[in-house]
Amino acid sequence: MNLRDAPDEAAFREGVRAWLADNLPAEPGKEWSRKLHDAGYAGLTWPEEYGGRAAPYSHQAIALEEFARSGAPQHMNVIALGMAGPTIMYHGTEEQKQRYLAPMLSAEEIWCQGFSEPGAGSDLSSVRTRIEPKDEHFLVNGQKVWSSLAHLADFCILVGRSDPQSQRHAGLTYVIVDMHSPGVEVRPLRQITGEAEFNEIFFTDVEVPRENLLGDVGSGWQVAMTTLLHERGTLGFALAGVLESQVNKLVALAKERAADDPIIRDRVAQEWVELQALKLMNQRSLTTLMQTGIPGPEGSGSKLRWSEQNQRLTKLAMEINGGEDDGYWGYQQLRSRGNTIEAGTSEILRNIIAERVLALPRSR
Ligand SMILES: Cc1cc2nc3c(=O)[nH]c(=O)nc-3n(C[C@H](O)[C@H](O)[C@H](O)COP(=O)(O)OP(=O)(O)OC[C@H]3O[C@@H](n4cnc5c(N)ncnc54)[C@H](O)[C@@H]3O)c2cc1C
Repeated sequence: MNLRDAPDEAAFREGVRAWLADNLPAEPGKEWSRKLHDAGYAGLTWPEEYGGRAAPYSHQAIALEEFARSGAPQHMNVIALGMAGPTIMYHGTEEQKQRYLAPMLSAEEIWCQGFSEPGAGSDLSSVRTRIEPKDEHFLVNGQKVWSSLAHLADFCILVGRSDPQSQRHAGLTYVIVDMHSPGVEVRPLRQITGEAEFNEIFFTDVEVPRENLLGDVGSGWQVAMTTLLHERGTLGFALAGVLESQVNKLVALAKERAADDPIIRDRVAQEWVELQALKLMNQRSLTTLMQTGIPGPEGSGSKLRWSEQNQRLTKLAMEINGGEDDGYWGYQQLRSRGNTIEAGTSEILRNIIAERVLALPRSR
């Protein structure tokens, strides 16, 4: 593939940069998300009838890269745009697409993801939350954990067990839950950074209308796989953009505090090299996405490399600072701990790469 921007891509990139120059700095939140939507930068690749711009994936990649590079806050509805929306587009009915997609882009309705449970994280097929089919609705009982944004969310994409006799991947069902329904209780969890970005969610006899089913009863595993491929697959460009601005900050710090130290210079240069490798890997994922419309397992490689590099790089910055927290790198170090756990731990991603990218024999 050609790694340089084609003329339409170069023009689009210029447009994004000009818009950012006029609209930054900005505060994260609903207002900023709405502004992104009004300017056409939310749901770039989504069909126009659902509020998107029907733009090619290459434009989406450019926008993610430029936004991250500029330090602009993200659209707050990350789970809706990155996961719930693409899943509804793939598995949803026309009524569901008409009902849910546009308000995601404008951040009128915020979404969270209810996959992990106290006894099911890496192994999603162990979920125990009950999604019991009744005549008119599903009855949901159980507990989810680590649900980012649940304290702000209007809807949750939920995976649970509809057949209590079933084992593992069979007998799972995927529904959309209105977070304002009676019986839904959200309890925030405090992280090592002191913030509370994620939550426990308790479901007690929550009635979910039949029309909120995504896919078929019992086919929840297949629907969930679409969500997870998108979770890891389309974030790569944003991650590389964030990392690029981190590497630039690291270089500036090293110049200021350790310019004469050859070992530090070498380690900083290595981080720059790794960044270039990540960018090339993202181009490979983009090729798959442009050819098939679905992110491939290569996205797991980008997420793995990015999260491990971000941890290493923030540690190096702390070292250059002599272990002192200057208010920036200390926070970055603590927050980066979660990066190798969320959206698949490093061990799980290595298994995926071994089996599905390198076609090595299964480990179990
Ligand atoms: C910041 C953050 C945000 C999150 N947001 C959400 C969210 O919005 N919604 C949601 O549903 N979840 C969310 N999660 C949860 C996340 O998906 C899980 O933490 C993750 O899947 C790991 O599951 P676990 O914590 O249960 O660990 P476990 O699965 O119990 O794993 C424990 C350890 O065992 C290792 N391990 C497990 N299985 C294997 C194996 N087969 N081979 C090798 N090693 C293995 C793991 O790598 C890990 O080191 C979030 C997590 C974080 C940190």
